[in-house]
Amino acid sequence: MFESLAVDPKTAAAIDLAVQENRLPHALILEGSDEQTRLAAAKEIACALVCASGGHKPCGVCAKCRKAKADSHPDLYLIEPEKAGAFIKVDAIRTLKAQSMLRPNDGERSVFHIREAQMMNVQAQNALLKILEEPAAHVSIILSCPSKAALLETILSRATGFALQNETASELPNEEAKETAKTLLQTLADGSELDLLLALSPLQKDRVLFSTVLSACRLILRDALVETAAGKPLRDTDKTVFSLRRRLTQKQLLALMDETQSELDALSRNANLNLILTCFCSGASGIRRS
Ligand SMILES: [Zn+2]
Repeated sequence: MFESLAVDPKTAAAIDLAVQENRLPHALILEGSDEQTRLAAAKEIACALVCASGGHKPCGVCAKCRKAKADSHPDLYLIEPEKAGAFIKVDAIRTLKAQSMLRPNDGERSVFHIREAQMMNVQAQNALLKILEEPAAHVSIILSCPSKAALLETILSRATGFALQNETASELPNEEAKETAKTLLQTLADGSELDLLLALSPLQKDRVLFSTVLSACRLILRDALVETAAGKPLRDTDKTVFSLRRRLTQKQLLALMDETQSELDALSRNANLNLILTCFCSGASGIRRS
């Protein structure tokens, strides 16, 4: 499932397992920055939910899969803004509700995909909430959106979220980790090896914090790399990214991404924390001098 899509492998595996074991939650939120990936992932899941194969789903060859792929399966419904930028209003959700009460035509399941779910206005979301509170057994609802932040808390609590691309993962580093990561990388760009060692010292006793800080570093380094490749700043870029681009070449940025990843791997292997900190410090300083 999702082999040809740019879906985070961990998310893909989690969804696939749930589908195969027939325990996919009745309401899911697919969150990700790429619209085509969201759409394709929702279609793939919908297809798997109606697939008639006794083996791995979606099989892609049964009559139901073929109809799903041709957008002609009678039990797959798409709800979307009437035009780009328009809200999805309560009437659309009332129609969904009426359709959800009918028995499926062609199998055991009806699947409703609400595309651009963040465009549901509050009344629409409240109407959807009623359906999520008492879903009919044959109903699956897929909400796809760039970010679930625009959805009501009450909706979020009744649906299972899946981050399709790991940059939008819900385990994004917290503010403390982001700030520490910025300080670290800023020091790496402008300071000495000793400054870097001092900046790392608060992490000496906290394995979890160090790991989230390294993940945050990777996101910042990735932005700097994207900007370097694009040759211009992205929107809302912060000054750490700017400093990194100014001081380091693309090759050095890539090497730093690799360095943070090896430290993350070492952390997950439970290697000695002080040793990893020292490795990071000398590795990163070496890359800057290279
Ligand atoms: Zn099939």
